[in-house]
Amino acid sequence: MKLTIFKRLTLGYGAFVILLIGLGIYVSAQLNRLNQLTWAVVMRDGETVRLAESLDTMAVALARFEKKHLVTGDSAFFKRFQEIRQQFVNTHQAMQHHIDAKDARAILDRIGTDSDAYFALIDRERKLMDSARSRQDDIYHDRKDDLLDRIRLSLQSIIGEARQARDKKILLSSRISVDVIRIGIITISIGGLIGLIISFISARQINRSIHRLQQKTHEVAMSRFGALSPVESPPEIAALTHDFNRMCDRLKELNDMKEDFIYHVSHELRTPLTAIREASSMLMEGCYTGRPEHQQQLLGIVHGECERLIQSINRMLDLSRMEAQMMDYAFKAVDVLPLVRSCILKLAPIAVAKKILLELKPCDPLPNVRADEACVNQLMDNLLGNALKYTESGGEVIIALEQEGVEGRFIRVKIADTGCGIPQNALETIFDKFRRIDRGQDTERGTGLGLSIAKHIVMAHGGKIWATSQPECGSVFTFTLPVA
Ligand code: ADP
Repeated sequence: MKLTIFKRLTLGYGAFVILLIGLGIYVSAQLNRLNQLTWAVVMRDGETVRLAESLDTMAVALARFEKKHLVTGDSAFFKRFQEIRQQFVNTHQAMQHHIDAKDARAILDRIGTDSDAYFALIDRERKLMDSARSRQDDIYHDRKDDLLDRIRLSLQSIIGEARQARDKKILLSSRISVDVIRIGIITISIGGLIGLIISFISARQINRSIHRLQQKTHEVAMSRFGALSPVESPPEIAALTHDFNRMCDRLKELNDMKEDFIYHVSHELRTPLTAIREASSMLMEGCYTGRPEHQQQLLGIVHGECERLIQSINRMLDLSRMEAQMMDYAFKAVDVLPLVRSCILKLAPIAVAKKILLELKPCDPLPNVRADEACVNQLMDNLLGNALKYTESGGEVIIALEQEGVEGRFIRVKIADTGCGIPQNALETIFDKFRRIDRGQDTERGTGLGLSIAKHIVMAHGGKIWATSQPECGSVFTFTLPVA
């Protein structure tokens, strides 16, 4: 699967972000656990220890005040004893809300039973004192001490267990903290490493491809148009490389065309100019003084070459004006048949000289077309001129006119020859400017502008032009013009 630059970046950062999210969830869960443990340590175990210790202190105080009261008979001591007794009962009840563990609850119940028994003995003792109205001997001494000792022992075992539970929870909290830190470090390291590796590989590939493109651009600037070989790269860069290669091909083509044009134009201009120079210098040197027919011949050559020069230059100027859309067309209703006939007549001498059969096929009466007469003349001259130029002596050039369909809105003109033909792969580009077919030694003189001008003219009229060909058997050029 080809990964786009966007997908690569998303994957690199995505992996890291997903790991961070996972880590966040894990850390939150563990912090919640820690929070619960802390709460349990402070609110349950700590509070249980505190309450149990205060019960123990109260038990000691109860024994002290009870003894003082018994020895002195002072009711103030007994009053204080009763206050502490009430506190003891309240604290005992409060502890019951704090303790969940089954064992601890059983111990707490036992404390309740023992304290009830202890307070019952005290009550009985007090009743005896009240009825005798005098101080009494400590008749329950042993039983009371025994009960208080049991109560205090039970309290000590609750305190011990609560402390143990608290220590266990603190230990667990510390383990959780260590785990969180360890897993956090591992996750961030792995995430960072994955992100780093993906980013590094992607950045390297992208960078390498861009660097190649940069180098190639530099080469193109130096007129070296070779294509870039495909390498492993993200689709965006692969597409860019593909387009870049197409651009290079096109630039190479344009460059070749430019060189071709310079070669042909210089040839096109130099040949007539050389002929003119030679002929005129012969005349100036008086080579043919007294032989007027030879002088006439030389003047004829000068005239012919001047015509050819003017024609070439006019073609170039025409094409420039057409491309700049500065050409003024004088459209009007034109009878196309006489126009075609006059073109045939104009070029008939060439056909005669080359022994080519030049023929106009009979056709039904045709409606007028909407056209610029001078331009259609030029169009016919170019196509007919080419047909005669590229057909060997003894060949044929046939012109046919017809209406497209029964009530067709276009007139179709066909120029078919039996010349050298055009290769299939050149048929589409043959109408491009400066496009010529290299036939080696047999290549005819020309600028490669005739067909390009023809195409501009037909398009300006709203028609179409195309060519079909069988190499070595001939070509057919067809164009259409709109009915007026
Ligand atoms: P040129 O001045 O070179 O004739 P054109 O634009 O008229 O320029 O023609 C372009 C090229 O198309 C020519 O060089 C020739 O190779 C080819 N071509 C045009 N017409 C014909 C034809 N009837 N038969 C064969 N080749 C043709």
